[in-house]
Amino acid sequence: MKQGQHKQTDPDPAAHVSAGSLQGYKGLTPALLTKLAKLGISNMQGLLLHMPLRYVDETRITAVRDLRSGEQAQVQGEVVHVEVQYRPRKVLICRLNDQSGQLVLRFLHFYPSQLASLKEGKQIRALGEVRSGFFGWEMVHPQYRVVGDETEVATALTPVYPTTAGLSQAVIRKWIAWALSHADLSDTLPASVSQSLNLPSFAQSLACLHHPAPEADLASLESREHPAWQRLAFEELLAQQLSMRRHYARRKHQGAPALKPSKTLITALLKSLPFALTQAQQKVALEIGRDLEKPYPMQRLLQGDVGSGKTIVAAMAAMQAIEQGWQAAIMAPTEILAEQHYQKMQGWLAPLGIQVAWLAGSQGKKQRREMLAAIADGQAQLVIGTHALFQEQVVFQRLALAIVDEQHRFGVQQRLSLRQKGGQPHQLMMSATPIPRTLSMSYFADLDVSVIDELPPGRTPIVTRLISDARRDEVLERVQDACMQGRQAYWVCPLIEESEALQLQTVTDTYETLQQSFPHLKVGLVHGRMKPAEKQTVMAAFSAGETQLLVATTVIEVGVDVPNASLMVIEHAERMGLSQLHQLRGRVGRGAAKSSCILLYQDGKLSEMARARLKTIYESTDGFVIAQADLAQRGPGEFMGIRQSGVPMLKIADLERDHELLEAARELAERWLETEPVLVDKHLARWLGHAEELVKV
Ligand code: ADP
Ligand code: MG
Repeated sequence: MKQGQHKQTDPDPAAHVSAGSLQGYKGLTPALLTKLAKLGISNMQGLLLHMPLRYVDETRITAVRDLRSGEQAQVQGEVVHVEVQYRPRKVLICRLNDQSGQLVLRFLHFYPSQLASLKEGKQIRALGEVRSGFFGWEMVHPQYRVVGDETEVATALTPVYPTTAGLSQAVIRKWIAWALSHADLSDTLPASVSQSLNLPSFAQSLACLHHPAPEADLASLESREHPAWQRLAFEELLAQQLSMRRHYARRKHQGAPALKPSKTLITALLKSLPFALTQAQQKVALEIGRDLEKPYPMQRLLQGDVGSGKTIVAAMAAMQAIEQGWQAAIMAPTEILAEQHYQKMQGWLAPLGIQVAWLAGSQGKKQRREMLAAIADGQAQLVIGTHALFQEQVVFQRLALAIVDEQHRFGVQQRLSLRQKGGQPHQLMMSATPIPRTLSMSYFADLDVSVIDELPPGRTPIVTRLISDARRDEVLERVQDACMQGRQAYWVCPLIEESEALQLQTVTDTYETLQQSFPHLKVGLVHGRMKPAEKQTVMAAFSAGETQLLVATTVIEVGVDVPNASLMVIEHAERMGLSQLHQLRGRVGRGAAKSSCILLYQDGKLSEMARARLKTIYESTDGFVIAQADLAQRGPGEFMGIRQSGVPMLKIADLERDHELLEAARELAERWLETEPVLVDKHLARWLGHAEELVKV
């Protein structure tokens, strides 16, 4: 179908909408396919959706006498003079005459072939920025080509695409134009939907974005607010909604143990605690408890700021499984954290007669064998571990609930492999990073979310200070004061290996220096390169108050809970991400003492981004505000590891800019999933490229 002739008609659901492999077309050589792959283009849809960065107007030819300084213009004229000047430096000068005046083209770098093509008497069409030079109008390094009298001017604006080394604009334009004329561009949305949203058809939108008419509104095309852009954004968001919500709905057809509410264990556990649950903890515990009663697997994200008390909620969920004779598992991203969970769970649950097992890479062979046996025969009721829990030898007898702490630290593969053990367990994922609404509506739309939006009482707010590295001495004094008053402190260094380029101090250097500065204090050292057993010893000494100052890398970022630690110094804070800083800072302010966090930064070397990050972390302790800022600064791909999670990234839509379209897509998706299975398949095939599979059925 030709562009522009497309009418808005209801799609034929049977039509083959291929995401289209690019294999086997003449001209699409392996070398070219490799280059396209570098741009993320692997199929027809990829070509169609490779969008211009900007546009150039080659539709008009301007007479030299009408040129204006500073403007982009296209001029056509006859070459009347060519010369190479050598002083003050080598330069190729070419004069064009178009009857209304003369224009000088100036090239500071040029090839012999260029010199050969610019012959007196040839017609040249040149495009570039005009400026007024010493000898009249001139263009420096214009785009140009030799033309004949009959060479037509462009009828549409010329797209300029993102590209990669060795792939010229001309080639990429050619193949995108080819895709536009070869692919099936028929609508997957019924005309009624396009009309109610007042958006052009899929084909019209693509035609408009790749080859806009000269009178098109360039500003809205480039800002991506043009209706053509919105149409594609809506379609993409719709595909995302359809796939996430279908995934969500399908889960209800899988079986999982329906766990009756706990009658005794939870009550006994709560009674033994030195504190009462907050309202927020009670609310989320109820939500989780209800999910566990269902005969299909829960997939719930429990989100609560650092220190909000997620661990006890996890323990309550585990009790519901254990009381019915099932096993539960808790996975933590680091050994330090797994060990700490183990200690805590032992303390809470051993008095209730519950067997808690623990599995770590650092265990001896014998102990490990015993643990594996206890897990396999069901004696171990609650199992705590790191990724060691994923190993093949680990077989649960009856696993009903898998809890993943700090879920964003795990890859999606790891989460899946645990889920597969012992059939389908319920899954509870816990994270201290709040998910902004636009994200929970999109990338996390297949999960249920519970939020602990309240901290336990009696916490004093953490005071954050930004201090230039030049004032280290003051900081040392504050560390000393805190430790002399019986408090403890962390000193966090970002890297352990010497890296001159970054001028980061190594953690071992810092450790030695601090030991010398504080001869009367006990200083500990923990970093990622230590053996797990060494780490455990160091952490235990710090927990017990035997060491006062702990020098650490970011290994302590997640979960570590030492309430007596009330001061944290973070070196090179400017190099760390917002969520990471927030997590680190959350290690203090856990007890009743007034806590502070000192962010040391290298003065004079702050990038705009780093400055913005430090400002945010200084001004706010609200995890939600920080997450929003983090998302805005880094984009969704890096946020909570979404890019690594395997969920396809949005290419066209922007969650902030297009949030109204997101709402509309969500509504339509809910309706379609019920009523329009064929349209859903067709739309997903186009956008997510499962065409082959779906076409077969
Ligand atoms: P996080 O949500 O960061 O994992 P934790 O579960 O480690 O937080 O809890 C932080 C600290 O607060 C722990 O020492 C925990 O025992 C304590 N805590 C949890 N809930 C309450 C509560 N309702 N009242 C008082 N202290 C609590
Ligand atoms: Mg925690």
